[in-house]
Amino acid sequence: MAKAKVLLVEDDPVQASATMEILRKVGYEILWAEDGINAIKLVKSEKPDIIVLDVILPGMDGYEVCRWLKLDEGTKGIPVIMLTVKKELSDKISGLQIGADDYLPKPYNELELNARIYASLRTKALQDELRLKNKQLEELLDKVNYMAITDALTGLYNRRRFHDALTSEYERARRYGTPFSLVMIDIDYFKKINDSFGHDAGDLVLKEVSGILMKSIRDIDTAARYGGEEFMIILPNTDKMHARTVAERMRQAIEIHDFAELDRRISVSIGISGMPDAKVENEDRLIRCADFAMYRAKQLGRNRTVTVEAHELEQMKE
Ligand code: GH3
Ligand code: MG
Ligand code: MG
Ligand code: MG
Repeated sequence: MAKAKVLLVEDDPVQASATMEILRKVGYEILWAEDGINAIKLVKSEKPDIIVLDVILPGMDGYEVCRWLKLDEGTKGIPVIMLTVKKELSDKISGLQIGADDYLPKPYNELELNARIYASLRTKALQDELRLKNKQLEELLDKVNYMAITDALTGLYNRRRFHDALTSEYERARRYGTPFSLVMIDIDYFKKINDSFGHDAGDLVLKEVSGILMKSIRDIDTAARYGGEEFMIILPNTDKMHARTVAERMRQAIEIHDFAELDRRISVSIGISGMPDAKVENEDRLIRCADFAMYRAKQLGRNRTVTVEAHELEQMKE
């Protein structure tokens, strides 16, 4: 605190040098302005830690200077101690009303001036610390929020977030009759990839597949990692026929992708369900339909896309 930079705004040279002498003894770095305009210029260029501001100045008076500084984003945080000549209560009040942090009636003594400056600097330091802590807390909160909805390995949304997104999309489709599709993607023979190339290579494949999926979707779509090597894509405003086109594009992009960590290509099996579908009464049923479609794609030989309507699922049960 002893190294703090103090700007003294005082038009009377005798008074100014007396005050500066006091401040110098404490060890402050001192700047001096004789009038309001120069004070503002110095505040901008030198960024003092505190301003000791005389009220009565030629031209722009101390109140105006203070008001100006407190309106400016860049300077409003600097504490201002007003030096009032009169001990009138109204003078003190008007100083504080326009944002001065403290006032000191003239003539003041050395001890009092130092105590006021010290107290203001300490308050400022505490406020800065609080602001920094707040900022750190906000950043932490952002991070926690991000982690709560994100899959750590792939950066896609996690399963929890997927369920939330599906619920709101399902509600929307119910209410407005808009179509939407659910695409379930499962990597074929992924266990073999792990067995042949190791778990780390498997992880890299999951990341790369995620990247391909992300590149294939629009901003309004949701891509999530649903399980180990299973992904879900929610396609709003997309009927099952168009979802099939999107899914096929993804499937083909993966089919031709060259994975540096492998000596072979991989493929995915894709299941699609969606709205409108008369037999779908909740979002859980949509997931089961997509899962069933994906399972059928596996049975039919993998590396393909299958679409299912809910009534097919019911026929299966019978
Ligand atoms: P299918 O074609 O029938 O889908 O066969 P598959 O081998 O892909 O299916 P299965 O469900 O038998 O195996 C999935 C494997 O995925 C098993 C598991 O070890 C692996 N796995 C799950 N999560 C991860 C992960 O985070 N990283 C890696 N490297 N492997 C994972
Ligand atoms: Mg004066
Ligand atoms: Mg699987
Ligand atoms: Mg699999």
